[in-house]
Amino acid sequence: MTFIRTVLGDIAPEKLGGCYVHEHVVIDRSFTTHMTPEFLLDDVERAVSELRQFHADGGRAMIDSMPCDAGRNIAKLVEVSRQTGVHLVSSTGLHLAKYYDPGHWGTIYDENDLTALFIADIRDGIDAHDYGGPLVRRTAHRAGVLKIATGKTLGAREERIFAAAARAHRATGCPILTHTEQGELALEQIKILRQFGVDLHHVCLSHTDAKPDIAYHREILASGVRVEFDRAFRWPANGGNPTRDLLVVLLRDFPDQIMLGMDAARRRYWRSHGGAPGLSFLLTEFSAQLRTLGVTEDALRRIFVTTPAATFSFATTA
Ligand SMILES: [Zn+2]
Repeated sequence: MTFIRTVLGDIAPEKLGGCYVHEHVVIDRSFTTHMTPEFLLDDVERAVSELRQFHADGGRAMIDSMPCDAGRNIAKLVEVSRQTGVHLVSSTGLHLAKYYDPGHWGTIYDENDLTALFIADIRDGIDAHDYGGPLVRRTAHRAGVLKIATGKTLGAREERIFAAAARAHRATGCPILTHTEQGELALEQIKILRQFGVDLHHVCLSHTDAKPDIAYHREILASGVRVEFDRAFRWPANGGNPTRDLLVVLLRDFPDQIMLGMDAARRRYWRSHGGAPGLSFLLTEFSAQLRTLGVTEDALRRIFVTTPAATFSFATTA
């Protein structure tokens, strides 16, 4: 394996430790939080408090999945990582169109320009102004993952962003994390990334457990891609836990392709904001539930440690 690019520098993959692979440690004031105020997670002190508890419960790393100009704040991520000792990986890339104003550059710029902006975030350093204005001031802190998304359809905007991300991946080896809308279009994402020459072992599709269909997941995982489940704490309390059931079945055949995250992009999910279940949930309650269902320590280690290390290490480039 090569290296994992954290906000505080590159580390050997075996140093990553227990990792949640789709988090929102910081969501700063932005068009996103203007439209959805509950997404606002701009308080460094509360993030530090939440991640200290995560660390005390055995967590060591998180992939922050907020890409360019949607509330990413590299200075705050650096501060939280320094104060807690939790490795943080920051994203470049672009989110769904709905998180940007209609005239946003992500909709206007062509594939070449998008590719150049993504590569510069990865190689040179993330813009202190988060690509929010005409002046770019690069920090010493670099992006370690490309975050891209599809909504209900994979239209021209998404295809251009996927193409740019694939080119940035091929040039740098940077891993890719995708958003799927309610788990849909996973197979289309795989098809297009494969067409664009992406190494699928360094691709993680998020939220696919929103569609907890076993046959669908077998088809997804047969491609070699990795998936991230984060609905475990969202199902209604009285109706069972489809994420848990899906995970237990799939682990038998795909033990090295499934990872977990909270995707807790709302204050009401955080203990430090007075909410529940808190970011330690997967390491504590959910792991305990899995153990009672026969999931072994070795399987948990693969979910939290070895699969994230392999997936989020940079691919070897030609
Ligand atoms: Zn997310």
